This record gives sequence, C-alpha cells and structure tokens, in this order.
Amino acid sequence: MSTSNPQGRGAGWIQGGACCTAPPLLTGKPWRVVLLGPPGVGKGTQAALLARHRSVCHLSTGDIFRAARELPPEQRTPALNAALEYMRRGDLVPDEIVLDLLRERMHCLRCPPGFLLDGFPRTVAQAQALEALLAGENIPLNAVLDYELAVEEIVARISGRRTCPNCRAVFHVVASPPRVPEVCDHCGSRLIQREDDRPEAVRLRLQVYEERTKPLTDYYQQRGLLIRIPATGTPEEIFQRTVAALDGR
Ligand code: AMP
Repeated sequence: MSTSNPQGRGAGWIQGGACCTAPPLLTGKPWRVVLLGPPGVGKGTQAALLARHRSVCHLSTGDIFRAARELPPEQRTPALNAALEYMRRGDLVPDEIVLDLLRERMHCLRCPPGFLLDGFPRTVAQAQALEALLAGENIPLNAVLDYELAVEEIVARISGRRTCPNCRAVFHVVASPPRVPEVCDHCGSRLIQREDDRPEAVRLRLQVYEERTKPLTDYYQQRGLLIRIPATGTPEEIFQRTVAALDGR
C-alpha cells in the first residue's frame, strides 16, 4: 500500500500562506492529534491514511523542509538554509526556526475537522510552545499516538523506503513496492531515496530521537493524552489499530 496526500490539501501548510480547501466539520468531534514515534516507524503513512479517513489535514514539518529544499536559492532565507543543513545531516532543526514556521501556519491548527501533526513536536520546548499556542486558541489536543517498533525493524523499513519527489507518495521496495520498479504509481515520477534515509543519517536520527524526542512520551503521559500503538504488521493493520484506539477514547 502506498500513500499520498489528497490533492489540493495542505498547500497552506507546506508553502505557508492561508490557502486551504479543507471541508468544514460536519459530524463528530474534530481530531487534533500528534503522532510520535521514531523515524521510519510509519508515522507519515499512518497520518496520510488517517487524514483520508477523516478529511483531517496531515501536517508534517519534515514536508515543509523538503518543499523548501526544492526552492531556488534566492527564495530561501538564511534561517531556512541553516535548517536544511541540519536536516541533511539527520539532526534536528533548531526549535526557534521550527516554531517560527508553526506560528506562520497557525491557521492550519484552527482547521474545523482538526489536524494530524506528524514530526512535530520533537522536543519538550516544542511541545510546551504547542501547548501554549493551542491554549491561546482554546483548541486542546485530543490524543498523542506513540508508535512503537524494535530498532532492527525500523532500520529495515527506512532502508527500503522510496519516496515520490513530486506527489510525496511513499513506497517500500519489499512491503509496498510500486507496480513498476522505482516509478511512482500515482504520477509516474522516478522514486528517490530521501537523503536523510541514508545509513549514516539514519543512525544520527535514531540517536537524536532517543535523546530529544522520547522524553515527550512522559510529557504527554502525564497529561493523560498518550496512546501507545504497536507498529508491527501491515500499514492497514496499524491503521485499523489506530482508528480503534482513537474511537475508543
Ligand atoms: P521527518 O520527515 O519528520 O523525519 O523530518 C525530516 C527532518 O526534518 C528531520 O530529520 C529534521 O532534520 C527536520 N525536522 C522535521 N520536523 C522537525 C521538528 N519538529 N524539529 C526539528 N527538526 C525537524
């Protein structure tokens, strides 16, 4: 199974600005959810599936940086260039840069159906800033999903991951291969391996996750928001597990 963002959604998040075609919330409660878990655990895949299931915006900070990397150099600010250098190494972009981007995109957090935050927050400082921003708007989080998987499995997943640089669909050479090898099923572009999915960057990303992002599980546990989800099995199985856990709240 591959995933991609629904067409025309999320442009305001990725490029900045207020453009968004998200529908209003018609039934049920909004979903305002954070997805946590180590790199490669499948948060992006799950976020895309959940976004489609509930017409909720999938907001990935990694996608903002990847889109910025495609901009011509004259359109990148010095702060963005510095951010892309951290990203290339597999390190975290400094909190101030990420938080500035989030503040510029506050309208996405006010979206009536809600949002799925994928890859943010990544540090306790980011979580505190998010909490303050949401409290100011009176839009509290409903849940924080913590996807758990053994390290060996994570490394296998990341090394086989292939991404479409055009429509952002994600494949895996073994678990969810494209119909034609190395070619995107959705738009026909040639698939790539993300620069930060190379082995040396992956090692650093896992270490950074343990040191700086793992403490967030305690942070959200103390606030009664944490839901642990085993990330074993197929994307569809993990998705069903996630929906059952969210519906059960
Ligand atoms: P991701 O696609 O979420 O794995 O993000 C890819 C890269 O973007 C990360 O390895 C970081 O360099 C950077 N990044 C994305 N989100 C954040 C964040 N919330 N804080 C710091 N760096 C981030």
